[in-house]
Amino acid sequence: MGTRGTAGGSGGGPRGISRRTLLIGGGVAAAGTAALTAEEIRRVWWRVPGVEKPRKAGELDYAPASWIAASEANWRRADRPDDYGVDRVIIHVTQGSFASAVRVFQDPAHQAATHYIVGQNGRVTQMIRELDVAYHAGNRSFNERSIGIEHEGFVDRPQDFTAKMYESSARLTAAICKRHGIPVDREHIIGHVEVPGTDHTDPGPHWDWPRYLKLVRAASTAGAGGTQARAFRTRGPN
Ligand SMILES: [Zn+2]
Repeated sequence: MGTRGTAGGSGGGPRGISRRTLLIGGGVAAAGTAALTAEEIRRVWWRVPGVEKPRKAGELDYAPASWIAASEANWRRADRPDDYGVDRVIIHVTQGSFASAVRVFQDPAHQAATHYIVGQNGRVTQMIRELDVAYHAGNRSFNERSIGIEHEGFVDRPQDFTAKMYESSARLTAAICKRHGIPVDREHIIGHVEVPGTDHTDPGPHWDWPRYLKLVRAASTAGAGGTQARAFRTRGPN
C-alpha cells in the first residue's frame, strides 16, 4: 500500500516503479493477500502521468482494419499486456448485420462491444484498442485476458459464415496470436459459449472450428501478407 503512495509522489520515473513493484510481487508471492496487493499496485502504476503507452486517435492494432470508435461506456481503459496478460481470442457472432453491430457498439447504453467486427465480405473494423478491456465475454477476468471478434451473421444460418469471413478472421486472429504470444489452439481460441458463466451460445454449432483453426495456422505460418493473399485467391466461393 505504502509503495503506491511513494511511487506516485517520488517522480522517480516509471521504470523505477515497475522494477520495485515486480520485486515486491516476487518477494511476497508465497503470502497470498500481500501478493494480491502487489498485483493491484502493478495494475495501477501505469496511471502515473507519463507512464501510459502513447496513443493516437484512430490508431489501429491491425493494419488491414478500418477504425470506428466504440462508445467509451462499452470498454475500460487499460494498458495491456502490462496490466493484464492477453491469452485468449474469443469468437462471437453478431445476430445481426455488420452495420447494426457497429451501431450498438457506438451506443453507450449497450454496455458491451468487441475489439473487432468481421463482415461476411471479409472487411475488418476495429472499434476498441487491444490495450483496452472490451466488455464482450460477460466475465470480468475473461474480458481482461482476451480480445473479442464479432462475425456478421446469425448462429442458425450456416450460409452466413462465408469463406471470405473465415479467411479474413483467421488472418486477424493469427496476427493477434503472434502479437501477444497466444498459442494457436482451441484452448486459447474459444467461442463466447465456452466462457465460464456465460448464457450466450455464439458462435453456435455451425461455426466450423477445424476449418477455422486450420486457416489460423496457415495464416500464422505464412507470416507475410503476400503469402496470405495467395492462399486467399486459391479458395473459391463457398
Ligand atoms: Zn458473443
